[in-house]
Amino acid sequence: MIDPDHVFGNSVLGSEIYAEKIGTGKLAVLLIGGVHGDESEGYLMAERFLIEIHNGSITLPEDISLYICPRLNPDGCANNRRTNQHNVDLNRNLPTRDWDRNFSNIKYYPGKSPGSEPETAATVRMIEQIDPALIVSLHSYEKPMINFNGDCEDLAISMSEKNGLPPKGDIGYPTPGSLGTYGGWERNLPVITLEILRGQNPDQVWKIHRDALLTAFSFYISRKIPERRTAHV
Ligand SMILES: [Zn+2]
Repeated sequence: MIDPDHVFGNSVLGSEIYAEKIGTGKLAVLLIGGVHGDESEGYLMAERFLIEIHNGSITLPEDISLYICPRLNPDGCANNRRTNQHNVDLNRNLPTRDWDRNFSNIKYYPGKSPGSEPETAATVRMIEQIDPALIVSLHSYEKPMINFNGDCEDLAISMSEKNGLPPKGDIGYPTPGSLGTYGGWERNLPVITLEILRGQNPDQVWKIHRDALLTAFSFYISRKIPERRTAHV
């Protein structure tokens, strides 16, 4: 059952956009999957995490409240499409200072205006209410990498020791209106965009990235946890 307190909005077609909360620790961490609905490697990994936590194979440290939003773009995931139902790339639609109405390829269509999409409104609400110390967003790409935005290169390097992927501060092309910019560069909120190898089978993905994600979730425990980094939801 989804806790209604953890439903942050609805998609264009009316699906709930929710995050499941695990643990009651002071350090809130947000794991997001399925921003791009044709990148099943990411949302299946997020869902696998929920399954493994529920069946007891994984135990998280007490200091953490982990929020998992497995499918931020439920309509896209249901239809295996990158964009939402309005053909908007949700990772170009966030209300960032660098939001740009121009796009080089239709698959990067940023929408009519910054934050125009209901899924984006849900993302903003989720971040404001959860107030996470870290966001990890799961994507897939032909060139797998740990893309870091904000002050978290050290975290990306630690994850790299577990999954062998290169840490990169720049994905190689501009991404205005992205979550990395919204959180990492504009809100001092570290964002890791984990680009899983596209086409890799779910068991392999699990094996390769499980420990890297656990490293990420625990990374800020040992640091001084500022008081404001408490879970509000
Ligand atoms: Zn993606």
